[in-house]
Amino acid sequence: NNTHIGLIGLGNMGFQMAARLRETGHRLVVFDARPEPMSRAVALGATAAASPTDVADRAETVLTSLPTPRASLEVATGGEGIIHGSRVRRVVELSTIGAHTARQLCALLAERGIAVLDCPVSGGTAGARNGTLALMASGPEHEFASVTPLLEALGRPFLVATEPGAGQTMKLINNLMAATTLAATAEVMVMGVKAGLDPTVMIDVLNAGSGATHASRDKFPRAVLPRTFDFGFATGLMTKDVQLYLREAAKLGTPTELAEAVARRWEETTDSQGPDADFTTIVKPLESAAGV
Ligand code: NAD
Repeated sequence: NNTHIGLIGLGNMGFQMAARLRETGHRLVVFDARPEPMSRAVALGATAAASPTDVADRAETVLTSLPTPRASLEVATGGEGIIHGSRVRRVVELSTIGAHTARQLCALLAERGIAVLDCPVSGGTAGARNGTLALMASGPEHEFASVTPLLEALGRPFLVATEPGAGQTMKLINNLMAATTLAATAEVMVMGVKAGLDPTVMIDVLNAGSGATHASRDKFPRAVLPRTFDFGFATGLMTKDVQLYLREAAKLGTPTELAEAVARRWEETTDSQGPDADFTTIVKPLESAAGV
């Protein structure tokens, strides 16, 4: 099969997805604003494109994995956007951009006959590399069906609902849980260390007990205990996700007391560590405050 799949955005997630898709036999045409990940993708056998339009001239299906709602809108509808491509039929938006932007994208691309499958993902860079992501799609059933084999190369696809934006809402719910449990695990670990407990022993006990979270099972053992802080997700992006959640919850009028406290903790982390720091550095300002 000669068909190329387009992939725009070769960052922490997108590059690992490129590697996984190449490994599962897909032909890729890729674009990123930075040359460095472009040459790494070409080394994997992907074809380099000169712009999002160029990708959309060569592929019917274009995947996007971009950092912010603004970047997704620019790549889809800007002067060199996907919208100007001659071949593209559908965009699978894998970024976390919130329901509002997902609906906006869908409406703008529909004017040119391009379908959008809103499809944010969870499972981190390891999930992207190993094809074990959770993919939370929303959009027309036939579009979901047509990309299911492709999505299955990346992980487990769910059709959350058929209206655009629902996948984003599901993703923000997932990430508020991840943001909360990482913040909470960081807080209790610092308390335990100050009390004289061994952090490795604490993590082992939590993981055998009812306090286990994804943070204690994976993030702490992999990036906090060894002090490598290289899990592969930026503090600025987690802060963006928590803020998108708060905006949607405010519109719905649901309670947000916990989410607001979690948002403050992530804003403090982004301010003190920088927006590009790995999100596992959330423990550092807490350690400083505790003097441990
Ligand atoms: P990243 O910042 O590492 O990568 C984004 C890439 O997009 C970069 O390579 C950047 O150069 C490129 N880019 C930015 N603007 C561009 C533009 N206008 N044109 C072309 N390329 C452009 O981000 P990431 O961690 O890979 O995350 C991507 C998306 O996936 C985000 O929405 C994030 O919230 C979401 N996400 C990330 C993770 C994770 O663990 N890292 C997990 C699930 C979901």
